Amino acid sequence: MDFSKTYVLVTGSSRGIGAATAQAFAEKGAQVAVHYNRNQSAAEEILNSLEGTGHVLVQADVSDPEAVERMIHQVHQTFGRLDVVVNNAGIFDPHPVDEVSYTYWQKSWQKTLATNLTGAANICYCAAQIMIEQKGGRIINVSSRGAFRGEPEFPAYGASKAGMNAMSQSLAKKLGKYNIGVYAVAPGFVSTDMAQPTLDGPDGESIKAQSPLGRVAKPEEVAHAILFYASEKALFMTGGIIDVNGASYLRT
Ligand code: NAP
Repeated sequence: MDFSKTYVLVTGSSRGIGAATAQAFAEKGAQVAVHYNRNQSAAEEILNSLEGTGHVLVQADVSDPEAVERMIHQVHQTFGRLDVVVNNAGIFDPHPVDEVSYTYWQKSWQKTLATNLTGAANICYCAAQIMIEQKGGRIINVSSRGAFRGEPEFPAYGASKAGMNAMSQSLAKKLGKYNIGVYAVAPGFVSTDMAQPTLDGPDGESIKAQSPLGRVAKPEEVAHAILFYASEKALFMTGGIIDVNGASYLRT
């Protein structure tokens, strides 16, 4: 895979899957916009770790529509184009229906959907305007196995990722005529900050045992699937959803 002369934005690339994705794109020659929300120093470290030159750092709370618009404008102004957008930023906050108050439940749903789904939708909108104009691009949305399997402790999270899958497929149909591919990548558990509390908890070993490989994914394994969808010959896979879950959950 060669991403030279390719301009890429990876949201939530201060850490975890996003950081591994930014590094993988840079290794293959891309110029990358590293995006963060709160973790500026971690994002700067990732920026400084990237191979090649011309990478840039951008900040936005993706749940804020105006901040999203500003960020996409900044990336476009800096690079002069926008070839690939990876919607990776996300949150995973527990809100079990039989434990939390109604007020907490409301807040969890609002925050989760605003970040994981509406935030990604707004990035898709702003990026699509540029990609339509330049007659091509790729949008890769980082979804989750939870969209298919259910998330009993995190129902808004499961719903946000199911919504993301449906959004990806709707946009794939709408944007194909502009040579824009839209895809989703659906990991199971991945060893990142997001999953660490669960993996370190009493269910950690049984979670690893869900996969016949006896472990969870590494961030770079999810990054590999993202780069594959962004690669030149994967345009016709538009509308697809790749599972990266080590056969822990097989959907039909
Ligand atoms: P992570 O280590 O917790 O990192 C989350 C990233 O998202 C950080 O860069 C964070 O930025 C950013 N972010 C969070 N809220 C944001 C907001 N409101 N605005 C902008 N950026 C925000 O997460 P991860 O495990 O790498 O997960 C990345 C994606 O993969 C998520 O969409 C997640 O749902 C999905 N996923 C993860 C797993 C897993 O087991 N880890 C499994 C399936 C799917 P700051 O650090 O700057 O605040």
